[in-house]
Amino acid sequence: MPNRLRFAPSPTGELHLGNARTAIFNWLYVKKYAGSLIVRIEDTDEVRSQRRFERLIYDNLKWLGLDWQEGPDVGGQFGPYRQSDRIEIYLQHAQILLNQGLAYRCFCSEQELGEQAERARQLGLAWKYPGTCHALSAREVEKRLTSGHPSVIRLKVRPGMILFRDLVHGDMRFGSEVLGDPILIRSSGLPTYNYAVVVDDALMKITHVIRGDDHLSNTPRQVLIYEALGFPIPDFAHLSTILDPDRTRLSKRHGASSILYFREQGVLPQALLNHLTLLGWSPRAGQGEILTRHELIESFDLDRVSKSQAIFDVTKLNFFNRHYLQKSDRLRIIQIAISYLQREGLLGAVNPAMQDWVGLVVEAFLPGMDRMSEISSKARELWSFDGEAAVKEEGVRKVLCIPGATTIVGELNNQLSVSGRDVICEWPLIVQAIKTRSGFRGKKLFHPIRVALTGRDSGPELDKLVSLFERGSKLDLPQKIKSCEARVSEFFRAMKVQELNPDYENS
Ligand code: GLU
Repeated sequence: MPNRLRFAPSPTGELHLGNARTAIFNWLYVKKYAGSLIVRIEDTDEVRSQRRFERLIYDNLKWLGLDWQEGPDVGGQFGPYRQSDRIEIYLQHAQILLNQGLAYRCFCSEQELGEQAERARQLGLAWKYPGTCHALSAREVEKRLTSGHPSVIRLKVRPGMILFRDLVHGDMRFGSEVLGDPILIRSSGLPTYNYAVVVDDALMKITHVIRGDDHLSNTPRQVLIYEALGFPIPDFAHLSTILDPDRTRLSKRHGASSILYFREQGVLPQALLNHLTLLGWSPRAGQGEILTRHELIESFDLDRVSKSQAIFDVTKLNFFNRHYLQKSDRLRIIQIAISYLQREGLLGAVNPAMQDWVGLVVEAFLPGMDRMSEISSKARELWSFDGEAAVKEEGVRKVLCIPGATTIVGELNNQLSVSGRDVICEWPLIVQAIKTRSGFRGKKLFHPIRVALTGRDSGPELDKLVSLFERGSKLDLPQKIKSCEARVSEFFRAMKVQELNPDYENS
């Protein structure tokens, strides 16, 4: 039998980490063992389901690099793949069960049953539907139906043990006596989740059901429905819940659990794919944690899926992302950087010279970044130089207090004000000249140079910044970038106003 797996999201919101992990595990299994992945849209909740969410789900799955062979968007011979288009199919199968006496119509009102349940709760008793309507005669049913009495269709639960195989949890056994007869079709004519999912999985010839363990407790009811309909029961694999590092359930409320959120933050798909795959699954010993798409497929198996809860750790995600950012094709990273800088209004339309310049921005700032979205705040400092404000900064003041520091700034200013210098090419000579004149080396030399050029006492490598300032100052950007000369002369002037005169002037 060919492997047929499915991912069955409800389009009631964005794709979240938990669902994405479920999709990834299904996808990995299909890639590893060959087979088909089916996307089925479970949109029977008319109020909460939206096409917009369905499109977002496809888009985010594709962004993660997943593909599928059948689904509402690609078609396939087992369609339709949207539950709202399958209502007739559910009704037909429910009719078969009614005809066989395996299901029955129930006329009990929700209110009536709610009251029963409440009374039981007050007495501290467990409550299940007592099967009131099972005993109704065919004539009585007919009578109530013709008089327009609303009804649901319920499955008659058979006595005995319910058995199924779970590839993560092992062989499962449940006593059926605790289950009330489950509703298959509601009074609205719409199917319940437990029923529709079984009809669909069976008719779509699904062989493995990999999903979140919040559905483990639904599975016994589903097995009863498979049995009643005479369908083979697939293998199940229920994946553990994903928790926050504080061990609370990963909450949708925090917003930071949707794929779109991480995508917008500039987390790369490979990083998220890698991290999500390791939530509840572990590679073979000695394999390490950073695994390419190919390695993930090659080493994936359900027998290394753990029952214990998995922790989604942002620090870990950042670790993966830093790795993939460094590894990624530079041109792609530059494109991503451009889009962030444009969004912030720091860049307009981009010409080749600007693209090269953004390449330098990326090179300077990438080593200190967890996510691409940080590029705008980092790069903003290229524009934000203000000599007067800088000399008042505590960190800068500290640097300038070191004997010889102001002399270095003065020398730097002299060097840069020599007209017609190609500052980028001559930078090593400029530094050498200051070094010779001041007699300082290392930190004592570079710290004052840095503060005069950037207004900050730390940051990316100076050589990189020098080219960024020089080249940037010649570009037609929405806001001008100051050249090295402009920066240092501004800083130098401000230093003098503050009476932070070069040491050689004081002596
Ligand atoms: N629509 C269900 C959910 O999103 C699918 C559950 C299942 O895979 O059976 O939870």
